[in-house]
Amino acid sequence: MLGWWRKRKRARILAAPFPDEWLQAIEREVALWRAVPDSQRPRLLDDARLFIAERYWEPCGGIELTPPMCAVIAAQACVLTLGRSVDAYDHVRSILVYPTAYRAPDLWEDEAGIVTEELDEREGEAWEWGTVVLSWQQVLTDGRTLHGRNLVLHELAHQLDLLDAVDRPTLGSAELRAENERWMEAFLDAHEAFCEEIERGRRVKALDEYGAEDEAEFFAVATESFFERGAYLREHHPNLYRVLSEYYNQDPASWKLPAPAPGTRTETGRERRRRRREEERSRRKDRGRSS
Ligand SMILES: [Zn+2]
Repeated sequence: MLGWWRKRKRARILAAPFPDEWLQAIEREVALWRAVPDSQRPRLLDDARLFIAERYWEPCGGIELTPPMCAVIAAQACVLTLGRSVDAYDHVRSILVYPTAYRAPDLWEDEAGIVTEELDEREGEAWEWGTVVLSWQQVLTDGRTLHGRNLVLHELAHQLDLLDAVDRPTLGSAELRAENERWMEAFLDAHEAFCEEIERGRRVKALDEYGAEDEAEFFAVATESFFERGAYLREHHPNLYRVLSEYYNQDPASWKLPAPAPGTRTETGRERRRRRREEERSRRKDRGRSS
């Protein structure tokens, strides 16, 4: 019964033409939109509309959250599920959007067991019970370029975590479960190799060192790289690329990279390093999977 209602509701949403204003915002702000193959774009727009309609959107910190802004977020989120189904987001109920980085209380315990509460500055986070929090300013900064750093992809990847998928008992046939286990093994091997390099103080190409935090963060930063710099990731981490390619059922290394939108200035290597250092500093206190 639920399925029937849902189908009917979805059909009604998709019967209306895609709003021009939303499309203009996506074309302007989402570099990934220009990278996705032409043949997949109509599906991406359909999924984005369903993603918007089926979530609760909460403006926070005084932001005025408009439908074209939601479209910019949804179009990036739905790139992750293009190879499968937007239903993978069914458990994601709410998207909270702040105008800029926001401060959230963070409890942490030192080695002596002393618990301190601090206000921590954050750009975004994903909560396990299906809430995603985003800074609109960071959504725009990351969305406009393809540098392997994308807040929306990062937080939504936490919601689709490969390791969680393996734990889900309802995943279907034994064959499928075996396939998931194989992915997990290959993924964990890649994570281990990555952490060893980082511990030796080496820089790892195509992957942000924040991935050394834990497996969930590694999955999220690898996902950012996979979609934004697929060919580069495949070149340096072919096994990891293969796992992600099977998990997402997509091959972004084959996408043609778009020309930057007019007026977008490319971040220099030095600026990028400084930004990452600052981000790293603000994230260092994050615990577990809260970022
Ligand atoms: Zn994270």
